[in-house]
This record gives sequence, C-alpha cells and structure tokens, in this order.
Amino acid sequence: MNFLGHSFRKSAVSALFGLAVLLGVSCSDSKDTAPNPNEIDKSVNQLPVGTSAADFLRDTEFDKLVVEIQYVEGYKPTTVALNNLKDFLLSTVNKSAGIIFKESSIPSPGLAPYSVDDIKSIEDQNRTEYNSGKSLAAYIFFADGDYNQNSGNSKVLGIAYRNTSMAIFEATVHDLSDQLLEPDREILESTIIHHEFGHVLGLVANGSTPQSDHQDVAHGHHCDVEECLMNWVVQTGDVIENLASSQAVPELDSQCQADLQFNGGK
Ligand SMILES: [Zn+2]
Ligand SMILES: [Zn+2]
Repeated sequence: MNFLGHSFRKSAVSALFGLAVLLGVSCSDSKDTAPNPNEIDKSVNQLPVGTSAADFLRDTEFDKLVVEIQYVEGYKPTTVALNNLKDFLLSTVNKSAGIIFKESSIPSPGLAPYSVDDIKSIEDQNRTEYNSGKSLAAYIFFADGDYNQNSGNSKVLGIAYRNTSMAIFEATVHDLSDQLLEPDREILESTIIHHEFGHVLGLVANGSTPQSDHQDVAHGHHCDVEECLMNWVVQTGDVIENLASSQAVPELDSQCQADLQFNGGK
C-alpha cells in the first residue's frame, strides 16, 4: 500500500493518510433538505489515496467540489494559503458548478504527536462533508501537533491518507516558518497543501497515469523534476531553505500537468 508521507526525512516515508474536513459554520435553515446523517455513505471517502483522482479532475461524475477545512483552535491556516489553494484548484480541476470551502474548528483532540490512525479517527468523528450527488467532498485537517513518526530533524509536514483526505501538521509548520532563514508561513502552508493535493489528484503514477517518464521511483510517487511541486525535496527539510530564498510556492511542471490533463484535468 502506498504511503505518501511528506517528510523531511531521507528515507522516503510513504504513507497515505489524510483526510480532514470541517463542517461549515453556516447555519442550516433548510432542515427539510439537509441530508440524513444515517444515509451518508462514508465508505466512498475512505478509499486509498489516488483512487478518486479522475473524480476530482473531470467534470462528469462530479461537477462541484466542497473542500472542508477543519483546524484545531489556534491552528487556522492563513487566508492567503486558502486563497492560493482555491486558485490552484480552479486552474487544475474541472468543476463547472463551482468549488466552495467550508471552514470549522475543533478543540484540541489532545493526542499529539499524531499517528495516522489518530488522524483517521479525528476525521471520522468530526468530518461533515462527504460525497453527495454530483458534489465531491475533500477534507483537510490542520493538526495542533507533530506527526508521531518524526525523528530528530526529520519532520513530516503533511500527509495524504485517503482518497479525499489530507492532514497538515500545522504546529510543525509554525515551528518552521516566519523566522530568520525560514519561509513565510503562507508560502510553506501553500507548498505543503498543494503537494498533498497533488497526491490526491493521482501524482505521480498513483491514479493519474504518467504521460512521460518523470516518476522518481526511488522516492515513491514523486516527480524527478527538481523545481516541480511534486518533487520529493518538497517533503524534506531542504524545502525550508529553498522556500526561504525563493519565497514562492512551487508549481507543477509540464509533465505533471500533462498527467492531470490526460486524466481529465485542465
Ligand atoms: Zn509527497
Ligand atoms: Zn512534476
């Protein structure tokens, strides 16, 4: 099983984890049309990473995308990062009925450092948005602690752990941003969020078939183009130094873009 861990460590941690979503804070005054929780089929959102790549990229099965942003109180991602994510998705996936974000917060689960099983459990207890009709749902959880597999300077910043689920270790992001020789927080957040979403979209060779030979097989489902968002270095400690000097979010290179386009993306 693939594990697309996104870590600073040299050993390619491959782990697929991650779904986190949040409930919208909006009041529901349409009780008559609210879905019955008993009728929600959560299993379609609990599949391996990459299995829903085409559902995200194409407009056929799902023409709307709901991204649930759920954070532990005090660990809300920056507005800039959320706007960057929306721009990234608008330029990558076909969703003619729109892309909406729903934000919510939860109290600290008090489980840090977090295992993948912890993250899955938190999602299962708190996620509110699931696929429904032609609406596809994604979940991103922002944790108030580190990943429990970190060791020494080896830090995991984020994981994609299910077909529509990602987690960002926001406490780790805080530790590694906004200080001298570190990137701005919104730059680091955007880099990790976009990278994890890239795995959910099937990169590299994990749901979106490569149209050219650019998989960095030695590092799992990553791209061998150095500057690409999906390069393995993005999940290593080196990314801090690179981002600190560039202060720019890496983009998908042409080969990764071609893979997504072939699978139904823009
Ligand atoms: Zn990765
Ligand atoms: Zn690439």
